[in-house]
Amino acid sequence: MKEKLKKNLFINGEWIPAEHYTPLDSPYNGECIAEVPSATVEEVERALQSAYEARKTMGSMPSHQRAAILENLVRLLDQRSEEAAQIIAMEAAKPLMTARGEVARTIQTYKFAAEEAKRIHGETIPVDAAPGGEGRIAYTVREPLGVIGAITPFNFPMNLVAHKVGPAIASGNTVILKPAEQTPLSAYFLAELLQEAGLPPGALNIVTGNGSLIGEKLVTDERVQKISFTGSPAVGKHIRSKAGLKRVTLELGSNAAVIVDKEVDLDKIISRCVSGAFAFQGQVCISLQRIYVHQEIYTAFVEKFVSAAQKLVIGDPLDSATDVSALISFRYVQRSLDWIEEAKQQGATIVMGGKAEGNILYPTVLLNVEPSLKVSCQEVFAPIVLINKFSSIDEAIELVNDSRYGLQAGIYTQNIQTALNATQQLHVGGVIVNDIPTFRLDHMPYGGVKESGIGREGVKYAIEEMTEQKLIVFNRT
Ligand code: NAD
Repeated sequence: MKEKLKKNLFINGEWIPAEHYTPLDSPYNGECIAEVPSATVEEVERALQSAYEARKTMGSMPSHQRAAILENLVRLLDQRSEEAAQIIAMEAAKPLMTARGEVARTIQTYKFAAEEAKRIHGETIPVDAAPGGEGRIAYTVREPLGVIGAITPFNFPMNLVAHKVGPAIASGNTVILKPAEQTPLSAYFLAELLQEAGLPPGALNIVTGNGSLIGEKLVTDERVQKISFTGSPAVGKHIRSKAGLKRVTLELGSNAAVIVDKEVDLDKIISRCVSGAFAFQGQVCISLQRIYVHQEIYTAFVEKFVSAAQKLVIGDPLDSATDVSALISFRYVQRSLDWIEEAKQQGATIVMGGKAEGNILYPTVLLNVEPSLKVSCQEVFAPIVLINKFSSIDEAIELVNDSRYGLQAGIYTQNIQTALNATQQLHVGGVIVNDIPTFRLDHMPYGGVKESGIGREGVKYAIEEMTEQKLIVFNRT
C-alpha cells in the first residue's frame, strides 16, 4: 500500500485517462497517497452518455442475473476485505478496526441488495371495488427509473456508496457515482470488483473531482432521473433547489442525542456511549453529540464516561490499536476549536480534551452547555460530546427535539411507559430504545426528518425510491 497509486476515470467499463489529476493526501500525516482524476465537464458528459445508453441493457436484465452480479461482488469483496479496510483507513484516516467494521457492513449491504433484487414486485388491484371496474384485471409492476446520479460523502466511503450502487443495480438502473473528493479510492476499488463480477459496461461510471462542477452537471442533466445524495445539509438544500422535477433522496446531517433515565445500569451503557461519541472521530451522521442524563445519576455518569474516554488510544489510523485518529481536514479542526472556545466563553465546562495536535482533535467532553451554542445546535462532526442534566423525561424529550435536525435519537430507560411515550414524542426518523442513536443495520429504513433529509435508505427502501410504479389494466369484456 506504500507506492503511490494513479487512478483513471471509470467510464463505460473502461479506465479512461483524465485531462487533469489532483494529488490525494493522507488526512493523518499529509503524505501524498495517490493521484486521482479531477473530471472536466466533457468527461462527465461522457459518463452520462454511457450510463444513459446502458440503461436499456440493465433495464431488461433478468433479476436473477442482477442478483448473481451482486453475489459475485459479495464474494470478491469478502476475499479482499483487508485490502478494502486499508484503503478506507488510508484515505479517510478511519482507524483500521472501524474501517474493518465498515467493510463487513458493506458486504452485508450488497448481500441485502442481491436478495432484494429477486423480490421487486407490484400488487394486484381489486378494480371491481368501484362501480365501472367490473370485468377488468389490474396490477402494478415496478420499473427502474433509468440513470441514478449518486453523490456520496467521505465518512463511509464504501458502505454509503454501497447504499446507492447496491439498490440501483438490484433494481436495474445505471449509475454515475461522484464520491467525495477525499475518498475516491474506495469507489474506484468497487469499480474494479464490479467489473470482475460481470457488471455490463456503462452500468456504473465513476467521475471524481470538484463537487460543485460534477454535482451541478448531474443534478441538472435531463438524462439523470434521480439524485441520491448523502452529505451536508447545505449541499443537500442546494441540490434540491436545482433538481427541478427530478426525484431526490437526501441523507443529511444531525446532532444526535440520547436520554439516560435514572435507574439505568451505567456500567452496561458507558462503553456504548463513548463509542457513539468518538468512533471515527465523531464523523458519523448519527454520532452521539448530546447526552442528557437524569440529575440523580448525572455525576456518576460523567465520572464513568470520562474515565472510559481517557482510555481511548489516539494515533495512526493504520494501527489496529487506534481508536481515534485525524479529522478529515484541518479546516474542521479549526472549526471545532472555535466552537469549543465559544462554549467555554459562554460558561460550559471542559472536562476533557479541548485541544488539538495537527489534524487530531482530542476527544472532548463538555458539561452545562446552553442549547443555543454551536456545539449543541449545529452538527459538530468531530469528537466532541456534551453531557447535560435534566430533571424530568418531558424536559429531556423537549431538549432532544429542540433541534433543526432529526435523524435518530436514543433513550435508555427501565420504564416501559417512559419508553413508549418517548417513541411517540421524539421527532426523528428512528428511535432506538436502550441503545445509542448511532445504532444502524443496513436493512433498516434509515433517514431523517426536518433538515436531516428527505426519503429513506436501507436497501429495500432505496429500491422503492429508485423504481417507478406502473399500473396495467386489462379489459376482459
Ligand atoms: P459534503 O456535503 O461536503 O459532500 C458530499 C458530496 O457532495 C461530496 O461528494 C461532494 O463532492 C459533493 N458536493 C459538494 N458540492 C456539491 C454541489 N454543489 N452539488 C453536488 N454535489 C456537491 O459532505 P461531507 O463533508 O463529505 O460529509 C459529511 C456530511 O455528510 C455530514 O453533514 C454528515 O452528517 C452527512 N452524512 C449523512 C449521512 C446520512 O445517511 N444521513 C451519512 C453520512 C454522512
